[in-house]
Amino acid sequence: MRAELIDGKAIAADVRADVARDVAALRERGVVAGLVVVLVGDDVASATYVGAKEKASREAGMSGGTVRLPAATTQAELLRLVEELNGDAAVHGILVQMPLPAHIDPDTVIRHIRPDKDVDGFHPENVGKLLIGHTDGFVSCTPAGVIELLVRSGVETRGAEAVVVGRSNIVGKPMAALLLQARPGGDATVTVCHSRTRDLHMHTRRADILIVAAGRAEMITGDMIKPGAVVIDVGMNSVPDPTRAKGSRLCGDVHFASAVEVASRITPVPGGVGPMTIAMLLRNTVRAAERTVS
Ligand code: NDP
Repeated sequence: MRAELIDGKAIAADVRADVARDVAALRERGVVAGLVVVLVGDDVASATYVGAKEKASREAGMSGGTVRLPAATTQAELLRLVEELNGDAAVHGILVQMPLPAHIDPDTVIRHIRPDKDVDGFHPENVGKLLIGHTDGFVSCTPAGVIELLVRSGVETRGAEAVVVGRSNIVGKPMAALLLQARPGGDATVTVCHSRTRDLHMHTRRADILIVAAGRAEMITGDMIKPGAVVIDVGMNSVPDPTRAKGSRLCGDVHFASAVEVASRITPVPGGVGPMTIAMLLRNTVRAAERTVS
């Protein structure tokens, strides 16, 4: 079997077109959806992600932009900025780019963002709403994007054995919670694996839907996948590659060349889950803006 590719770029473009339509409709009602991204320090990867988010929000017709702060910014200064943005009616979504410099506690910052502006979906109130199945909160963008990929690709999650590798607060845990919801894109039987899991292979081989977010380059090989499974690779790893001009290449947590021979459908890296994360951030922002008028 050679798996069919799930084209995250194309699906993300569809979501972004929907968002742009919703933003335009809001403008007609006098509201311009606004997203502000806060970047502290000069981490190169973070600057790239933030640039992509700013560009995408502009293309969707949103206002806002990026506030860039020096690495020496104190926690108190950052919290003051968050308070200001919380109180600014033109700002519907606030995203503080992680990781923050070591002297700033990320949980304290996240808890300061108003839950109804927390378009990253990291605030405990939004995480709690996800767990109890309330739909008026915000869901972490990457796992929300994975569900969107599954639903828009016609993958049946109901009754499926879904195995998630990784239990982080931003991907693995909300991913498992979404797959458990009693609604389309959910209703799966969910197993969550992590670094202490005994016999990972046994679990991954049972999965009808295998979602990998472990941050370990190419750790899931074809022999760990059930024939015909749907494989979603969240991983984004830069590995040395002397054949490339820049000396490295991007790869996922799944060994694509062997997995593609076993799975029925698979996401590539790049071009799979990555583009969905930004698309879902834009969707969360326009929902935040809509909730201020309805
Ligand atoms: P974290 O490092 O926070 O979490 C990794 C998880 O994987 C942990 O729960 C860890 O277990 C588990 N794990 C690590 N090694 C193994 C192993 N050998 N076997 C089983 N489980 C293991 O990573 P994130 O969740 O933040 O990100 C995961 C990946 O997804 C990364 O490659 C990241 O770059 C990518 N990513 C991609 C995004 C996108 O937009 N495409 C967005 C966010 C992340 P334990 O808890 O026991 O340590």
